[in-house]
Amino acid sequence: MTSPTLLPIFDRWDDDEAMATEGTAPAALLDLATSRERLAVLDRTYHRDSHGRFGSGGSVRPSLANAKTVEEIGAVLATEASAAQGHDVKVNLAGLHPQVAREYSEGLLQAMEGYSGSNLGMVLTHGEGGATPRVARTSDEGLAVTIHGANFDDAGNRVHRDVIAFRTEAGADPEKLAASLHASAERGDSIAGRIEHVAIHEFGHVLAGTGNASTRIMQMVGRAAERAGAAGSKVGSFIAKRVSRYAAESVDEEAAELFTDFKVHGVDADMLSGMAVDIMHDELHQQRKAGGS
Ligand SMILES: [Zn+2]
Repeated sequence: MTSPTLLPIFDRWDDDEAMATEGTAPAALLDLATSRERLAVLDRTYHRDSHGRFGSGGSVRPSLANAKTVEEIGAVLATEASAAQGHDVKVNLAGLHPQVAREYSEGLLQAMEGYSGSNLGMVLTHGEGGATPRVARTSDEGLAVTIHGANFDDAGNRVHRDVIAFRTEAGADPEKLAASLHASAERGDSIAGRIEHVAIHEFGHVLAGTGNASTRIMQMVGRAAERAGAAGSKVGSFIAKRVSRYAAESVDEEAAELFTDFKVHGVDADMLSGMAVDIMHDELHQQRKAGGS
């Protein structure tokens, strides 16, 4: 583990610059399913292993599947994410169910393929039993939160990086979480229909916060809506119908959902998602060229 001193980091929070974006699904979604409903959903979504358990390592890479505790899983994520990013990514997944920790980690590693040098600097948990009780100002709800522009020491230097924080209360029960996500995606509320998609969505927030990405994506979507005869107040329903209702909530959620759509659905993703990802690529490329990291 590379995160023995998380709390001092948050003491150095730059409150003017830190900006929290909300997690992928309203907390109320977590309460929807009775256990019978959950099982019906899970039987369609996940394969059971030889012990009749859902999602026991079947959908994650071997390095994560073989990691038993959240400490071991966090160490795998820290090693692989740091290699993929080209800079140190600190990790503390305390308080998550190990299977949720594996699937979040898998999602993050999938999401960051092709995006070395992003602003991601830390992945941790907040809430009861987590790495820290709270992050920023708004983090009592939802599944996860991405905070832009946290300042913290990295090998003695002040650096400017983003933090993805998963809420422990939402990540304690993999079956409940998987069922609520599946139902949310079926209703068109969000793209994230599986646990790893939550992490992909959060990494979408990291990319959307790069340079002018989120503004350019908003303008791109606005132009597309206008061409489709859905200008002004109709942009929200335009994007909700094409991508998800959650994408219509804010500029930030729009960008994160478009990125998730592209990663999850590939060639079947909405055309707007591919265009949004192009913008994210371009902004990250410009940032790297300018010597940022
Ligand atoms: Zn979000």
